[in-house]
Amino acid sequence: MNIKAMTLPEMTLALKELGQPAFRAKQIYTWLHKGVRSYDEMTNVSKELRSKLAQEYPFYPPEVVRRQESQRDGTIKYLWRLADGNCVETVLMRYHYGNTVCISTEVGCRMGCAFCASTLGGLVRRLEPQEMLDQVLFTQVDSGLPISHIVLMGIGEPLDNMDHVMRFLELVNSADGMNISMRHISLSTCGLVPKIRELAEKKLQLTLSVSLHAANDDTRNEIMPVNKAYPTEQLLEACRDYYKITGRRISFEYAMIHGVNDSEADARLLLKRLKGLPAHMNLIPLNHVEESPLKPSTRAAVQRFQKILEDGGVPATVRRTLGGDIDASCGQLRRKYNQEHQDR
Ligand code: SAH
Repeated sequence: MNIKAMTLPEMTLALKELGQPAFRAKQIYTWLHKGVRSYDEMTNVSKELRSKLAQEYPFYPPEVVRRQESQRDGTIKYLWRLADGNCVETVLMRYHYGNTVCISTEVGCRMGCAFCASTLGGLVRRLEPQEMLDQVLFTQVDSGLPISHIVLMGIGEPLDNMDHVMRFLELVNSADGMNISMRHISLSTCGLVPKIRELAEKKLQLTLSVSLHAANDDTRNEIMPVNKAYPTEQLLEACRDYYKITGRRISFEYAMIHGVNDSEADARLLLKRLKGLPAHMNLIPLNHVEESPLKPSTRAAVQRFQKILEDGGVPATVRRTLGGDIDASCGQLRRKYNQEHQDR
């Protein structure tokens, strides 16, 4: 196992086998979770042990391939190269409540949503737990800004990589690591119903975000192929149960697409179907993706939609777009880079 994917108890065992006491494991764990780039930075560990560790447990921090900083709002977008040459994106957003990173969970995605740039090349592979952790660590190290919040809303479908995502959450939440509270973490899914049910049983304090984008099955089938496997009724049923089991209110994402899902009738149907389910709606004006004919809704349509929901008792906010000047939405930077370097 990669040493950075180990929990502290696992690392303690691994180091015991090298004849090391428990406190040493804790020192090393703390260093790794500060974002050192090599064992040589661990100044309170003997040279001998450092070279032994480098041999037995090598680790490979990601390299920054591109870094774009918004002149408008300070949003920073990173494109990282992983040890095997694949690239993923991370976005750092500076909100009043704290610095938030949006991380990727897979290289590419196999969910096929019609409006999303991340899925255009399909799924290459799932990320390892330490590759998710590294995005948080090295964004913090590079930017010099303390990270307090995480959203799993970058490239990939987190619930299609459940085991690694769960381990990542444990690592990033650990008291001897970054100690990021579960309440400061949001996990977004396109609606893998069995996995939502599995997640509910774990009773985590994180916020579950569900990418709904349409309340009507015909529309949702068209823009989100996952709906053919798990239609909206099953999905909303799973959401109701999720709330019952965890007591956590679900946050829904709704990308507003001109002429597709933004009519008054769409808003009314949505209200009807959300009845009795404590929810928060995040309305996101669609980010235009070059390869797609879909266009964002007009401002007026977004406001009308929001008002219908609010009047019906469902809190709805229009997501402020950050980093508009740096292609800061999902998958666009990786896509551009891959097209320029035709190899992946
Ligand atoms: N796979 C997960 C998380 C990654 S995407 C999911 O589907 O939820 C994070 C959010 O961005 C999702 O709600 C997704 O539907 C949305 N999204 C993707 N492409 C978009 C675009 N072009 N414009 C607006 N939102 C988009």
